[in-house]
Amino acid sequence: MTRAFYIGRFQPYHFGHHAVIMRIAEEVDELVIGIGSAQKSHEDTDPFTAGERVLMVYNALEHLPIRHYVLPIEDVRYNSIWVHHVASRTPRFDVVYSNNPLVIQLFREAGFSVKESPLYVRERYSGTEIRRRMIEGKKWEHLVPKPVVDVIKDCDGVERLRNVSANESNFSL
Ligand code: NAP
Repeated sequence: MTRAFYIGRFQPYHFGHHAVIMRIAEEVDELVIGIGSAQKSHEDTDPFTAGERVLMVYNALEHLPIRHYVLPIEDVRYNSIWVHHVASRTPRFDVVYSNNPLVIQLFREAGFSVKESPLYVRERYSGTEIRRRMIEGKKWEHLVPKPVVDVIKDCDGVERLRNVSANESNFSL
């Protein structure tokens, strides 16, 4: 039985993440999905709460054919203890999938097997681009699974993003 771990901020969860998870699901028996930077919300780069992101991922993966867990993971001040922090909040896993150089390095140093997981059609599916479209009033709904559209509409996420980005003195998507 192989259980894998994949983490992202999912601000918001989009079809690029979705395709990566579908590919991972073909290779492993169970998957733990970490909602990274769980403490963050109401910022221009991180508008959605951990709870909203759990719902986005969980609802979008309703038909994923393998058992999976969706768990919020807060950041910690020290990168050197982050892997232990993750391990203390998740079911045991055997392999990590990531494309983030820091995540890859920290897990490899801790002795985990790590597989690289490039995003699907990166130039089309990007959290930064989706947030920019929301702020500018352009179409974004076609870039995320339908359950994600529902979560964002339920929490008035586009209006929230516009408000927090207008208030950010240091505007950076
Ligand atoms: P991230 O900060 O969510 O994403 C960084 C960038 O990589 C974003 O542009 C993201 O695009 C992109 N990306 C995400 N998945 C990708 C993939 N499979 N292929 C290519 N690009 C990809 O980083 P993350 O790796 O997705 O998530 C790592 C999480 O771990 C973060 O929440 C981070 O804070 C946390 N972490 C914490 C510590 C600590 O607390 N000390 C240490 C290490 C990592 P999108 O915007 O489109 O998603």
